[in-house]
Amino acid sequence: MCAVSGLRLMAVHAHPDDEASKGAATMAKYAAEGHEVMVVTLTGGERGDILNPAMDLPGIKERMVEVRREEMAKAAVALGVQHRWLGYIDSGLPEGDPLPPLPEGCFALVPLEESTGKLVEVVREFRPHVMITYDERGGYPHPDHIRCHEVSMAAFEAAGDPDRYPEAGDPWTVSKIYYTHGFIRDRMVLFSEEFEKHGQESPFAEWLSKWDPSRGDLMGRVTTQVTSGEYFAQRDEALRAHATQIDPNGMFFAVPMDWQQRLWPTDEFELARTRVKTAIPETDLFAGIVDDQPGGDAS
Ligand SMILES: [Zn+2]
Repeated sequence: MCAVSGLRLMAVHAHPDDEASKGAATMAKYAAEGHEVMVVTLTGGERGDILNPAMDLPGIKERMVEVRREEMAKAAVALGVQHRWLGYIDSGLPEGDPLPPLPEGCFALVPLEESTGKLVEVVREFRPHVMITYDERGGYPHPDHIRCHEVSMAAFEAAGDPDRYPEAGDPWTVSKIYYTHGFIRDRMVLFSEEFEKHGQESPFAEWLSKWDPSRGDLMGRVTTQVTSGEYFAQRDEALRAHATQIDPNGMFFAVPMDWQQRLWPTDEFELARTRVKTAIPETDLFAGIVDDQPGGDAS
């Protein structure tokens, strides 16, 4: 629990549904505790495939943009967060060898200076104390995820600088920025062992067998674990809201809720930059924040 209430948290995500699978329970928790939480989605997810066989229905693909907007609105309600679109076009995940060029006009091809300016405008309007984004590898090798990292870091640097983007509103200095880490090997191992204990096959066996030990576990980079088990049900509701993208019989829902809450009731983050003093490890994204900025209205 942090000392100050009414602080603001902004999570920047590449596509609608990313917010539901990366740090979602933590956002629901902070919103429930009286903080303001905003999800910014950079692209419309136009190039997402239908990943739920039950939703592969006639007409859905044709109105994908609209469908994903509806899904995102439901997910934001489930988490209790505000939501903004930055309005860029999904770059798609290039596949093949050699990789095909990125489609014209897509987000990953927009000059960084330009997309940063748009994000800076939203940062200066919402004035978050803390931002969340992906690590330098995007957490997942999608060009929009890598770009999400780049644009978030650039906006974190620029938003407080009056000489940058002067037309984008009054400067606001964000205190901290985190990377969200979802694919933690230790967590998968723990759940796998629990499945074995119960004489069941682990749904993570294949994922773990493909694990490249030279990569090292992301757990080594985690600085901050936020206890959010109480909000896992809201996270799952947000995931299910993205009905075309999430298979209700898939890996996201494979682990019984009570195991998750008992064995691993936290979300994992890495403190990437901070302008306030804090002690690692942390259990609160707002740790060290005192709202003393001019114009700050936390009470
Ligand atoms: Zn994504």
